[in-house]
Amino acid sequence: MNDKNRIVELFNIDYPLIQAGMIWCSGWRLASAVSNAGGLGIIGSGSMYPEVLDEHIVKCKNATNKPFAVNLPMLYPDIDKHIKTIIKHKVPIVFTSAGNPKTWTSHLQSHNIIVVHVVSSLKFALKSQDAGVDVIVAEGFEAGGHNGRDETTTFCLIPQVAREIKIPLIAAGGIGTGRGMLAAMNLGADGVQIGSRFVASEESSAHQNFKEEVVLSGEGDTLLTLKELTPVRLLRNDFFNLIQKAYQRGDGKEELKNILGRGRAKKGMFEGDLKEGELEIGQISGLINSIKPASKILEEIIKEYRQAIKESNSIKFNF
Ligand code: NDP
Ligand code: NDP
Repeated sequence: MNDKNRIVELFNIDYPLIQAGMIWCSGWRLASAVSNAGGLGIIGSGSMYPEVLDEHIVKCKNATNKPFAVNLPMLYPDIDKHIKTIIKHKVPIVFTSAGNPKTWTSHLQSHNIIVVHVVSSLKFALKSQDAGVDVIVAEGFEAGGHNGRDETTTFCLIPQVAREIKIPLIAAGGIGTGRGMLAAMNLGADGVQIGSRFVASEESSAHQNFKEEVVLSGEGDTLLTLKELTPVRLLRNDFFNLIQKAYQRGDGKEELKNILGRGRAKKGMFEGDLKEGELEIGQISGLINSIKPASKILEEIIKEYRQAIKESNSIKFNF
């Protein structure tokens, strides 16, 4: 049996720990800090105009010699421009999400780019494998931000996907600690993708107000909503209450679209409007109690992961 970790080998990194691409939160500072610490940093391009992505890739390359990736939500309006920028700068790895993996995978791979596709169900995992992607991220509905409609949790999703696919698998959703990482690997994942924990990092481009709100939030403070548009997990706030009232009135898709308006995510996460903005974060925020440098977060997760492996052999499992 080959005992080398497939994700570490393929991405050429030290730990199979990937920082999620998150709109308004993961610019070049966070991505380079995570890559420098031995994980894989990702620039979230969904919130970046084409020239902003170009700038962030250049800055990321100047800040690290290690591999990093770009997350590309396929709903992005100027996707062709982002693809050209990624190819021009020879970004080694791309994480595609929210769309059909058939559209861009072979084009990116023909430029020697490793393609990872994010899914939230077994059905889309199998489709992605058929489309020829190199790696799959399976994300449970504990995750923050855009989310699956089926509400499958990471605990149920990972073993079912691991059983059916042959290519490497990264688990996401609800993971923010070393113990969580070990649990996901025990369920069959080759690595983990962690988002929320890195929102509350010093290098995240999230507004300080949002970072502090994540630290203050507890169990039960996030909910999945707007399933009729694009399902999204958010912190409860005035904006969330507006949506709840709309549901109580029986409002339809058009009214919901009007309430959402444009640029809510920027308002909340980047400009720090905690009342009117969209605050995308995962359920694991209840376990996040501090804002730290990304390298420290990564170091602590790996330390706890190793400690948890040792403890797994302890007496408490001897029954
Ligand atoms: P720079 O170091 O060039 O500048 C960061 C500055 O951006 C901050 O200091 C802040 O100014 C300013 N800024 C601009 N617009 C806003 C806003 N709406 N809310 C809060 N601050 C804002 O930045 P980077 O190298 O980190 O990034 C380069 C560009 O990319 C910047 O224009 C930045 O706004 C943008 N960016 C976009 C992201 C995205 O997801 N779309 C994520 C991160 C950055 P001040 O110090 O005066 O508060
Ligand atoms: P909205 O339609 O509400 O607003 C668009 C936002 O994207 C604006 O804030 C705008 O910045 C910014 N933007 C960056 N590039 C462009 C562009 N080329 N054309 C238009 N707007 C652009 O969308 P959201 O804020 O909800 O989502 C933004 C993007 O992020 C979408 O592509 C969406 O699919 C993706 N997304 C990805 C998520 C993920 O988990 N990866 C989660 C949520 C959204 P400005 O205000 O400065 O004009």
